[in-house]
Amino acid sequence: MSKFVFITGGVVSSLGKGLTSASIGLLLKSRGFRIEMLKMDPYLNVDPGTMNPFQHGEVYVTEDGAETDLDLGHYERFVGQHMYQRNNITSGRVYSSVIHAERQGDYDGATVQVVPHITNAIKESWKKLENPNVDIIMIELGGTVGDIEGLAFLEAMRQFQLERPVEDVAFIHMTLIPYLKASGEIKTKPTQHSVEKLRGIGIQPDVLICRTVLPITEEHRRKIALFCNVRPENVIEEQDVEYSIYQVPVMLMEEKVDQILAKRLNLELPPIDLSRWNAMLEKVRNPKGEVKIAVVGKYISLTDSYKSIYEALTHAGIENEVKIDLQKVESEEIEEKGAEAVLQGVDGILVPGGFGNRGIQGKIDAVRYARENKIPFLGICLGLQCAVSEFARNVCGIKDAGSVEWMEPGKEEMDRAVVALMDSQQNVVERGGTMRLGAYACWLHEGTKAREAYGAEMIRERHRHRFEVNPQFVERLKKGGLVISGNNPDSELVEIIEIPDHPWFVATQAHPEFRSRPVEAHPLFRDFVKAAKAKKQI
Ligand code: GLN
Repeated sequence: MSKFVFITGGVVSSLGKGLTSASIGLLLKSRGFRIEMLKMDPYLNVDPGTMNPFQHGEVYVTEDGAETDLDLGHYERFVGQHMYQRNNITSGRVYSSVIHAERQGDYDGATVQVVPHITNAIKESWKKLENPNVDIIMIELGGTVGDIEGLAFLEAMRQFQLERPVEDVAFIHMTLIPYLKASGEIKTKPTQHSVEKLRGIGIQPDVLICRTVLPITEEHRRKIALFCNVRPENVIEEQDVEYSIYQVPVMLMEEKVDQILAKRLNLELPPIDLSRWNAMLEKVRNPKGEVKIAVVGKYISLTDSYKSIYEALTHAGIENEVKIDLQKVESEEIEEKGAEAVLQGVDGILVPGGFGNRGIQGKIDAVRYARENKIPFLGICLGLQCAVSEFARNVCGIKDAGSVEWMEPGKEEMDRAVVALMDSQQNVVERGGTMRLGAYACWLHEGTKAREAYGAEMIRERHRHRFEVNPQFVERLKKGGLVISGNNPDSELVEIIEIPDHPWFVATQAHPEFRSRPVEAHPLFRDFVKAAKAKKQI
């Protein structure tokens, strides 16, 4: 039987619960435990796929094509294993399955209620992760204790601990210890209240992880332990990181979180091997230079919207031993001021994914600037569509070429739709189209920069898009000098393009950022930053 560790949060949101869960996951895995992770989101959307990035941040796409919470990105990056649909549930998903079962008559005439039907369905999602090859299942609840939405999940946890042996279920509660400047003190009261709320529901945390800007003194520790009914040694301090979020596992190891959990769960403690992780941190600490990378997007004001992109750039910086000086550029700013004014002096330009037509012209101008000024360029998904459109317009002379997604519907639209919708038989269609979600294969052609980067002939990358490079224009684009570096082996659809006679200009229809890891940068990001580094002559 697997053991379960539940992680809840209190006092405020955005405490870094996802990062902390992922860090503990890494520690346990580095001790040889086989782990699974689950993120529970209390909102009513079935998944975050339909949510605006300003609302929710990035939608993280898994190998099996699930659109999930961005915490799964943290899990993958820290723990280094793939997550799937089963690793993320929402209230919406749970309710919808219960309501569906009710309509099928599965409840035999019973009144269907939150307790026990919803709570049972929640517990089922945990049990699904259980198998003889999994030692520990870490389950994180989004939001904070006291939120109305989270109650059914907490109630399910309360029930579950009674159904299992005591040593099989542990609870971690994460809180904030605020620092009051006026009195120069840190305050433990909000933590006490938060734990009180949790205990009111019937859950006694075993471990408290306290986010704090100042170290927690022994006296504070004793006070928190006394009022929150936990052992003093189980009060863990998690200070703000100095230079990288990837320090968190090491900080938590110093606080012995993994040892405390193993003891609580009655597990033998094998030695830990964090050598690869520590070698990575060593590189973060000692960069040999800095490169300026512009990310030209439209959800720039919210850091979380391009989370995996920024992380993948960081990883590429680590591997190339340079610090990334990130320039977050609102594409509409380029439309107002011109590409030169905004992008002058950058060492690399990245155009990430996106939806809709706002800011498209600014992105196309950024692509042109990168192409003409020989600045290393990486285009991702919408970024590829902008790159192809720019090339069609300014090199192949197809006036106003673009994607059907941004065009005003009109008669001549298909004459310039270099990016269009396809049906499942790969026919260009005017409406509908199929969403490509999850991992698809790509065959890389010899002699291309993409093939050189990957060092493989066949690769797989995750997708999340509806529009494709229109096959009817491929010959014309090739004649103009565009190189198709990769195709889907089944449909022949264009996956990766590049431009020769340029230091490094590559764009991909997929989202390679989701597969990048701090200890193993993604090949495209790695070579992109390498080219930026070469441009700066580092
Ligand atoms: N909006 C584009 C499409 O659906 C690009 C999507 C993306 O960048 N993820 O094809």
